[in-house]
Amino acid sequence: MREESSAIRCPRCGARIERSCPEGESIAGSPLQTCPDCGRLYFDDAYAEPVLTAYEAAEVDFPYIKILYALIPTVGTLLYLHSYLRDPRSQHLAVLITFGALAVFFDVLLIIAIGKVIPKAGRKKAFLDALEGRAGELSAELRESLERLSGKDYLDALYKCRVYIPKYFYRRIGAEPPKRQRR
Ligand SMILES: [Zn+2]
Repeated sequence: MREESSAIRCPRCGARIERSCPEGESIAGSPLQTCPDCGRLYFDDAYAEPVLTAYEAAEVDFPYIKILYALIPTVGTLLYLHSYLRDPRSQHLAVLITFGALAVFFDVLLIIAIGKVIPKAGRKKAFLDALEGRAGELSAELRESLERLSGKDYLDALYKCRVYIPKYFYRRIGAEPPKRQRR
């Protein structure tokens, strides 16, 4: 049977603290929690800032490598086709067909990849628009999270606890992001 909660000890006073989530799952909220026993702040990685989680989920990976994979056989085919048309006897049709088939294969892969990126980029834009108050609405959970993440001290505190914070969150409050980001 799965545990419905997990517990840790306060690193400051040693009190046992129950968390309302199974081990290995994260709770939406600030990872900087206040110990109910001693009232001091401690870091609990069972919690994750909802805005940071949503930001990472909205991240778009542009298919650069697939563009390269598609470009090489496509250019190769075109060059070979060019010389084939000039002088068909000096070239081999089989080479042209092989190049062409490779080009079509990687071009189709690229088109599929771009087809996936476009709606994701749209969702990221909608998320950033809502985050920056241009359009749409943030849920109460995200609003509270964003409010916490709007303080430089809070960002620094999370950073010190090795929480990955995209540079975006420093820039949006006009602060300089730390030089080295750990992931
Ligand atoms: Zn404590």
